[in-house]
Amino acid sequence: MRYEGPIYRPPSEADSLLIQATVGCPHNKCSFCMVYKKGPAYRVRPIKEICEDITEAHNIYGDRIQTLFFPAGNTIAMPEKDLSYICLFATEKFPLLKRITVYGSSQYIARKGPQELRSLRMGGLSRIHVGLESGDDEILRKVKKGTTASEHVEAGRFVKEAGIELSEYVVLGLGGLERTKEHITATAEVLNAIEPDFVRLRTLVPKVNTLLLHQMGKGLFQPLSPHQVLMETKELLKNLECRTHLTSDHYTNYINLTGHLPEDKEKLLRKIEQALTKDETRFRPFFIGTQ
Ligand code: SF4
Repeated sequence: MRYEGPIYRPPSEADSLLIQATVGCPHNKCSFCMVYKKGPAYRVRPIKEICEDITEAHNIYGDRIQTLFFPAGNTIAMPEKDLSYICLFATEKFPLLKRITVYGSSQYIARKGPQELRSLRMGGLSRIHVGLESGDDEILRKVKKGTTASEHVEAGRFVKEAGIELSEYVVLGLGGLERTKEHITATAEVLNAIEPDFVRLRTLVPKVNTLLLHQMGKGLFQPLSPHQVLMETKELLKNLECRTHLTSDHYTNYINLTGHLPEDKEKLLRKIEQALTKDETRFRPFFIGTQ
C-alpha cells in the first residue's frame, strides 16, 4: 500500500485497514488545524492505484478485514461515482467487510446532496466522521471552518436520511472565554437538530504553525482552564436532548466520558461534578500540540 502526506484516522478506526483515497484536505483553512497545512495539495488518487492497494491488502490479509477507512482529510469531497466504485470494489474483495468510513466536512456533504449520499450508501459507505467543531456561526467564521450552523444541520440530516452512520466532533473551548456560552448553546442546538449516532468530544489544544496559536500569542484568544472546559462539557450535556452515543475518546480531554444519551446523562453529569471538585493542577498540563 502506498501513502502520501499525513495519514490521520479517528481513534475508533484503530483496527481498520487504511487505504488512501485522497491526499490532503480541499479546504485546508481551519485556524486550529495544522495537519495538512504544509501540503501536499489536495487531490484524488487515481482509482486504478486505490484498487491496486485494496488488492494488495487482500493479498496480505486475506478475507479477514472487517472495517476499512479511506484517508485523507475530506475523502467525501471526491466524486460520488469514484467513491462508490472503490467502496463496491472493497466490498467485493472483502466479504466480511462490515464498515467503510471517511472523513467529511459539512460543506462537501451538503454539495453531494441526498441522492449522491444514497448512492454512496448503496455502494457500501457506512459511516462519516464530521468535524462539527461548533454550532455557533461566529466561531465557525472566526476559525475559518468554511460552513455554517444551518449547513451542518442540512448535511447531518442528509447523511442520516441516506442511512449512513454519523459521528460529529465537538471541540470544547473553541470559542475561548469570549464565546463559551454561545459555543455550548448553539452546539447543543445543532446536535439536537441532527441527532447524530455519535457525539465525540475533543478539547482544544493549540497546535504549532496555526493561526489560532498566533492569535493566542497576541492575546486575541483566551483559552479555557480545565474547570472551564468541564463547565462547558456539563452545560453541553445538560442541553443535549437527542438520542446519541457520547464519547470523549481522545487524549486531549481532561476526563473520560462515555455513555448513551439520554439514559446515562445523570451518571455522566455526576462524573463531571466530581471532576470539578479536583484542583486544576491535577489535570493534564497545558501544552502546544505538534501533530
Ligand atoms: S479541520 Fe478538517 S476541514 Fe479543517 S483544515 Fe483540518 S482537515 Fe481540513
